[in-house]
Amino acid sequence: MKNDPFNFVQPNQPQNSQPQADFQELEATELYCPKCGRAVPVRKFLLLILPDGDRYEYRCQLCGTKVGEKIDRSGQFYGVLKS
Ligand SMILES: [Zn+2]
Repeated sequence: MKNDPFNFVQPNQPQNSQPQADFQELEATELYCPKCGRAVPVRKFLLLILPDGDRYEYRCQLCGTKVGEKIDRSGQFYGVLKS
């Protein structure tokens, strides 16, 4: 039996430039809805669970238009270290 080395998967490196920093990483309760034409209360939907965080989408509570999204880092480590 040969002792082949494993291919270790590197964890995702954080990018220098943040894509689409349109709004701050705050817990959004009101966002501008283009359809309603004003700031509206929003609902938070969980879209995807990614290795680097949970991806959420914000939708207008009045008309359901998507008005924003964000990635919440859960603070947990997924499969990075297994000793
Ligand atoms: Zn709306």
